[in-house]
Amino acid sequence: AHTYCHLGIDMGTSGCRGVAVSPDGAILARHHVALENPVRQGPAVEQDPVLWWNALQQVLDELARRLPCPPNTLAIDGTSATLLLTDTEGRPLGPAMMYNDARARPQAHRIAAVAPSDSGAHGASSSLAKLLWWLEYHPDQAGRAAHALHQADWLAGCLTGRFGLSDENNCLKLGFDPVERAWPAWLNAMDLPTHLLPQVSPPGTPLAPIRPDLARQLGLPRDLQIIAGTTDSIAAFLATGADRPGEAVTSLGSTLAIKLLSDHPIFAPQYGIYSHRLHDRWLVGGASNSGGAVLRQHFTDKEMAGMKPQLRPEQPTGLDYYPLPGLGERFPVCDPAMAPKISPRPEDDVIFFQGLLEGIATIEAQGYALLRELGAPALTSIRTVGGGAGNPAWTRIREARCGVPMVAARETEAAYGAALLGVG
Ligand code: ADP
Repeated sequence: AHTYCHLGIDMGTSGCRGVAVSPDGAILARHHVALENPVRQGPAVEQDPVLWWNALQQVLDELARRLPCPPNTLAIDGTSATLLLTDTEGRPLGPAMMYNDARARPQAHRIAAVAPSDSGAHGASSSLAKLLWWLEYHPDQAGRAAHALHQADWLAGCLTGRFGLSDENNCLKLGFDPVERAWPAWLNAMDLPTHLLPQVSPPGTPLAPIRPDLARQLGLPRDLQIIAGTTDSIAAFLATGADRPGEAVTSLGSTLAIKLLSDHPIFAPQYGIYSHRLHDRWLVGGASNSGGAVLRQHFTDKEMAGMKPQLRPEQPTGLDYYPLPGLGERFPVCDPAMAPKISPRPEDDVIFFQGLLEGIATIEAQGYALLRELGAPALTSIRTVGGGAGNPAWTRIREARCGVPMVAARETEAAYGAALLGVG
């Protein structure tokens, strides 16, 4: 039996998930509460943050009943670049702008004119673009605004009663410089009330203990430390168990994203390659437009599952595809006008499916080769997360093309990775 454990919370796109982990990494309890979908209106995507807070309390209340030992840390990961503004007491000044909210295009242009090319603040969905949008459209409330907070920051604040604290990973898209570990000087040229920017700590740093009244109400210990969290995709990386330079995680969801641990950062903005600081290492990442979304343009999940056993990974089709869901690619090829290459289409659907899988595997291998060219450590192994991870024939195809062993992920739930931040 253990004397204490660590809690991890993942506030994801479809719900709030919590896990309790022992100091040696065993899962002791887990609980999930679903969230209703965010409200979409054109490019705007919003959610009431009170929904997150209610879901978090439900998850903690349930976990607290089931824990075999008291938790001594709690870390939260949230969707990257989901932002809200609050007053000094942490009360939200309106709904949160979600990670995929794309209304802040004009603000992204303003950022592009000032920020260095390797900043994480570029793009209409960056948290900095959202903050500038909010300030422009809420002049009446700007006087009350005290904190610009990401999803994980705000929830941690609700637990501690201390708002205005964040972590280095969430703040990358708000413009934080992970190399200098500071808010950069160019932010001053953005005409931004800089008091809104949070105080930034490395993920896993103790922030404050839980509010005593909440501890009592939820049945949690009074000395439970809330520690700085991270983003959802970094928490998912941590969950896999990859922890040495050269170890990588490929995410095979709607898009293909790769992440590789490195002892130094790599930034190649033309390819959308950026680096997050993680403990004493760097997590280098890039994302292709290719991925499972292309597969779903041709087959249903059920059809794919049916074809899985008929795939012949040892007999390559020779089809030299570059599957893309539409025009344009960024990584590992930077070409905004690139067209998908998925012809000729063989009559046999299984061969077509295998050709698509091979094409995506080639893009993955090219992605890792590009990171290596840009100075990343040699790839030693790949762990896989996302919907494509459950296709063993694809895993063999990928292993042949990437030339390194495919290793089973220890866990794939981001909440588990968040909990590990407390294990240290
Ligand atoms: P996301 O969260 O990014 O939407 P998921 O991790 O849920 O994605 O994975 C969904 C993807 O998995 C889909 O785009 C789909 O094409 C892919 N997928 C589903 N079944 C299979 C299969 N049998 N083989 C390969 N890919 C699959």
